[in-house]
Formats: sequence, structure tokens, C-alpha cells
Amino acid sequence: MKRPRPVIAIDGPVSAGKSTVARGLAHALGFVYLSTGAMYRAAAIKALETKLDLQSGDLEARLKRMLDRAQIRFDGERIMLDGRDVSREIGAPAIGDLASRLSTLAAVRTHMRDLQRRMGERGGVVMEGRDIGTAVFPDAEFKFFLDAEVEVRARRRYAELAAKQEPITFDEVLQQLRERDVRDRGRALAPLKRADDAVLIDATNLDADQVVNQMKSLIAAGGNAGKGLKRN
Ligand code: C5P
Repeated sequence: MKRPRPVIAIDGPVSAGKSTVARGLAHALGFVYLSTGAMYRAAAIKALETKLDLQSGDLEARLKRMLDRAQIRFDGERIMLDGRDVSREIGAPAIGDLASRLSTLAAVRTHMRDLQRRMGERGGVVMEGRDIGTAVFPDAEFKFFLDAEVEVRARRRYAELAAKQEPITFDEVLQQLRERDVRDRGRALAPLKRADDAVLIDATNLDADQVVNQMKSLIAAGGNAGKGLKRN
């Protein structure tokens, strides 16, 4: 069924600049910005709070129960877990790591996919993540895949963490990013990959404004600019 407004999907690896770009594009278009990574991170916080045991049996069923009882939603750009704003907490590297591990599991992916589909069903959203153009909204009107060289992504991530006074070295950040890439691309369920009809943007030598401007012109051109940008 046709949505009243389009869905714009932005996928790509960790620290390619997806959040900044997706937020900028959403503001420019008057759309809602949705970070699906924040949702996986909120699920990770819930897992810590409920002392979820990742080792013992029956993990999928226990995860499903945990998520069915959790309330994950956005209030503007703030991510809310069970009515509490966890926007700051989700930024911790340990939470990102747990989110990445949980995101390999079917119960988590199915729950998030369904929740994200409901959030975007009427369109007017810029949804950013790893599998939006491939699994969540394969019929998105516009799809972008934002990539950049791993060293460039690590420099950005390191600067962000240093600003927050996280005790971590550049080499550790680079190592973590490489591991995250392997896990995101190599997992069996909804692995990170460019959808065939997504436009690839290499942001290695571009700043966020330049990327947003490229996306805006492709959207204004209404599709088929570049490879397969489609308009339903
Ligand atoms: O984007 P962000 O780094 O906040 O996402 C945290 C983790 O959640 C990622 O490393 C990734 O493994 C997972 N994720 C995912 N699918 C998405 C968004 C995030 O698997 N759509």
C-alpha cells in the first residue's frame, strides 16, 4: 500500500557519519529522524538492567520476553526506554558493543524490524541503520549507502569519544571499528550490505553538509540519478 510520504533509508558501517547526515537531511526536508542503532542500544541497556544471561540456554525465548515487556520509543530525537530518557547512556562504548552482539540474534532483529516498520509506516521519515534498505523497508522510496575508509571513520569516532573524555586510544577505536565491521557484515541475519538499488556515497573526503546536499539533489531529481534511486 502506498504511504502518504516517502521513506528515506540510510545504511552504512559504524561511524560513517550516518547520524549527522540523517539528522541534517530530516531537518532539511521536515521529516522525522529515526536512529535504529539507538533502538538496539536501548535493548542492550534493558539486557544489562535485567541481568540477561547471554550464555545459558533458551536465549532467544528469554530475549523475546524481555523485549515484549520493554517499551522502546522516540520522544523527538530522545530515545526512551520504559519511559526513561536513555539518550546519554546509549553512547557508552560498552553499550554499543553489547548492542552489536544482541543484533546478531533473531529475536532481537525481528522485534526491531517490526517496531521500525510501524514507526515508519506513514513515511516522512529518514531512518538510519544497517539493514533499513535491505530488510526493514526494502520498498523505501529513496535508499542511500554511506561509506568511508575505516581510518577516517576511526578518526571521527575517536574525536567524538575524546570529547566525551572516554578513556580510549585511537588504536583501540580502530580495532573496535574493524571488529564491528566484521560482525555487522558477516552476521547471518540482515547483514550490513548495500541494497542493489541504494545509491553509494563515499564520504571519505566529504563533510556532512556535502553529503546532505548530494542526497537532497538526488531526492529533488526524483530518482534514477545514479544507480537505481527509485521513486515508487
Ligand atoms: O549505529 P549504532 O552504532 O548506534 O548501532 C549499534 C549496533 O546496533 C551496531 O553495531 C549494529 O550491530 C546494530 N545495528 C543493527 N541494525 C541496525 C542498526 C544497528 O544491527 N539497523
